[in-house]
Amino acid sequence: MRCFSCDSFSIEPICKSCVKDFLTPHIITREIDGVEVISFFDYFLINEYIKSKYSASGYRIYKFFGKKFFNPFLKEYIKNLSIQRVYLIGVDGSLNRGYSNVALLLRYGSLGIKNLKPLYNALRAKRKVQYAGKPLEFRLKNPREFVYKGPKNIEAILVDDTITTGTTLKEAIAILKENSVNIHFALTLASTQDGIDY
Ligand SMILES: [Zn+2]
Repeated sequence: MRCFSCDSFSIEPICKSCVKDFLTPHIITREIDGVEVISFFDYFLINEYIKSKYSASGYRIYKFFGKKFFNPFLKEYIKNLSIQRVYLIGVDGSLNRGYSNVALLLRYGSLGIKNLKPLYNALRAKRKVQYAGKPLEFRLKNPREFVYKGPKNIEAILVDDTITTGTTLKEAIAILKENSVNIHFALTLASTQDGIDY
C-alpha cells in the first residue's frame, strides 16, 4: 500500500512521517448556539485529506482519522462520565462514492467504547444543497432542512468532518434541541472561518 500524501510504502493510509509532518492536532474551539465545537485541525492545513471524501481513497483516510483522532479523544471524555449511554450523532451520513465519511468517523471513533453508541442515519438533510465553495449568504438562503429520526431525551456528541461558517451545525443543533437531545459538544476534524471550500 502507498501513503496518500507522499506515495511511499505504508501499511497505514498516511505514513508515519507524513502524520508527523502534517497531522499534529492543533485543537480549535468555537461556539455555536451554546454548544462547544472542538476541531482537531485548521482546515487549510489538511484540506487535501478532507476532500478525499469525494474519491474512493477517502474510505481509508476517514477510517484512519476516526481511529487516530476521534477514538482516543472520545475514550478520554467518556471515561470521566458517569452517564450510562452517550450517542454519537453524525451530521448527515450522505453517501459519496458508496460510503459515508461521517459514518466512518462514527464507527471508528466509537470503537471499543462501551458507553458510546453511534447513531447512523439519524440526522439527515432533506435537501441536498451543495455548499462547496459557496459563501455564507448562499448557505443562509438555502438551508439543508434536517430531519431527525433518532431517539429523544438522550445524551449525545455531534460529529462532522468540517465546520466552516457553522450554518450546517447550527441547523443540526436546533433540530436536535427540539428533540430533547442534550448535546455535550460537537467534534469535527477541521475548522475554518471564512465560509468557503466546504
Ligand atoms: Zn507519507
